[in-house]
Amino acid sequence: MLEPMLIKYAELVIKLGVNLQQGQTLVISTPLECAPFVRTLTETAYAAGAREVAFFWQDEQLDKIKYLHAPADIFSEFPNWQKEFYLSYAEQGAAFLRIAAADPDLLRDVDPTRIAAAQKTSGIHLREFRDRTMNNLNAWCVISAPTEGWARKVFPDAADPVNKLWRAILQTVRADQPDPLTAWQEHKAALQKRLQLLNEYRLQKLHFANSLGTDLTVELPVNHLWQGAADITQAGIPFIPNMPTEEIFTLPKKTGVNGRVYSAMPLVYHGNLIDEFSLTFKDGRVCEATAKTGVQHLHNLLEVDEGARYLGEVALVPFDSPIANTKILFYNTLFDENASCHLAFGRAYPGSLADGNQLSQEELLARGVNDSLIHVDFMIGTADLEITGTTESGEKVTIFKQGNFVF
Ligand code: ZN
Ligand code: ZN
Repeated sequence: MLEPMLIKYAELVIKLGVNLQQGQTLVISTPLECAPFVRTLTETAYAAGAREVAFFWQDEQLDKIKYLHAPADIFSEFPNWQKEFYLSYAEQGAAFLRIAAADPDLLRDVDPTRIAAAQKTSGIHLREFRDRTMNNLNAWCVISAPTEGWARKVFPDAADPVNKLWRAILQTVRADQPDPLTAWQEHKAALQKRLQLLNEYRLQKLHFANSLGTDLTVELPVNHLWQGAADITQAGIPFIPNMPTEEIFTLPKKTGVNGRVYSAMPLVYHGNLIDEFSLTFKDGRVCEATAKTGVQHLHNLLEVDEGARYLGEVALVPFDSPIANTKILFYNTLFDENASCHLAFGRAYPGSLADGNQLSQEELLARGVNDSLIHVDFMIGTADLEITGTTESGEKVTIFKQGNFVF
């Protein structure tokens, strides 16, 4: 029953997501469990003219066994072949597809310092590769497919949680619609209309407020760009970095964030749950962080490097959006970030600044663009969120009222 929709989903991902070109190589990073869908993707990719489809397989159960039993010093080492794998394909101009699916409870018993060390190590060694994708030298796309452990967390009482999660995913990516490609073109056009309006406002800052206690001012750098739905490689090939996507985003000025913000949804950070947290900012830097659940994981995240304490993204998503309206808490950032206004710890996308992709790291920093080994979204949007903008001329404009865009 799912099969026809899975084929439509694969077509969306290959044709619109990574927008695979004739003779181009596709690299898929995926959990082992998603192999059946990866086969569908691979067939679709070859039908679209792929030169080769290469795979990077992962298994979170094996990762857990390693975290529990390997000697501690292994987590500061990184295999050269893995770095080479990504970089060599990137240099050949490959497109990169990642399937993001994880059991949010799996790593609960693992020493968080081991996870933090491993993440930092991979951040350092894959830096060059990530630079390429963050600067759109290669087309890339993050999608999802269910795994058993994750599906059970989302639908603990369902008879067939994997099937139920599949249906939810297919709905959020519009693969359940009669003509998904047209549905996406319309969706892209609607998002673009809004971001054009925001770009025309030339906002200098945003103020966020809600009944949780959020009272946060976010300055935006001069020449920031609101982006959304589609991106474009430096060679001019359009692609869609996230499927689903409902957000419009830009970058904050690194040192221009002040006040306090409260989380609106739990955050799953490398298999660990951080929930009901608040952050206090002074001149862009998190100076206080509290959480009812997972406070140690939150602190570990903030300590990855200096840039992890600063923000790299501010994204607007209406509370009344297709993913939010499913009323499902996915425990997966790809979905949850598209159901709620969010901010991101860490690195900013240089493309959120006009000509940002052409600037050096020092020039970016001078313009207020944050840098870090991490980029982690966290959700702040609630039904009563109000967002007010201030333009460069000092005029106030209402952007969000009662959780939704006013335009
Ligand atoms: Zn985002
Ligand atoms: Zn983000």
